[in-house]
Amino acid sequence: MRTDDMEMIIVFDNNTGDDRLLAMWGFSCLVKTAAGNWLFDSGSNGPVLLGNMNRLGLDPATVKWFFLSHPHWDHLGGLGSLLEKNPALELFLPQSASTHLVMDLRRLGATVTVIGERATAIGPGVFSTGVSGEPAEQALVFDTPAGGVMLVGCAHPGVHRLARQASSILGKKLLLACGGFHLFREDEPGIAKVIDELERVPVATVCPCHCSGEQATAMLAARYGKCCLPGGVGSQLVLAQVVQQARDGYR
Ligand SMILES: [Zn+2]
Ligand SMILES: [Zn+2]
Repeated sequence: MRTDDMEMIIVFDNNTGDDRLLAMWGFSCLVKTAAGNWLFDSGSNGPVLLGNMNRLGLDPATVKWFFLSHPHWDHLGGLGSLLEKNPALELFLPQSASTHLVMDLRRLGATVTVIGERATAIGPGVFSTGVSGEPAEQALVFDTPAGGVMLVGCAHPGVHRLARQASSILGKKLLLACGGFHLFREDEPGIAKVIDELERVPVATVCPCHCSGEQATAMLAARYGKCCLPGGVGSQLVLAQVVQQARDGYR
């Protein structure tokens, strides 16, 4: 997958630097690729998700694929509203999602693929890590010449473990890890250990969002410097620029 025309826009998050947008607990990120647009998770609230997308000039009808990291309310809540606008969506759900939810979504006309424990190719150059951990969660991974691009929801299995899995699926380093790193209840030594592990993968750039926590975000910024990219709803990551950032390095 080429990075030239790849872009990620955070459309739902509990942090924001943009007054036009509503910040609520949860996470969702739109990924533009040459093949079409992915929506990763859907935040906690449909009208807020669609309102943010609208203010960012993003049409829900242009989303081709929806990927759910794990079936927690703050990642799943916007899906109903998205499906109303776009019933032809193709969905990739983790096996931790309720079978009733899967049946209901199919009844609404959506195409649903349920992902199990194994790493799975879900498109050209696009992978799920497979579900792991408790609560069970999958990460979305794009294979690019500059390294893997990984999106995580809450990273309940551990963001460093998901990063290691993503890297081993592709057989290359990660260019970017973005999403909720779930370190908001972790103490300083615990956070430092996770950052060490991320560097060991290695992960070249990070964009901590959602449940990463203020302390972890500050510690990542201190360690990664400019390679720690600002998250929050409205943040836009142009992959060609991220590649340049990774190349310039931070040391
Ligand atoms: Zn969450
Ligand atoms: Zn969660």
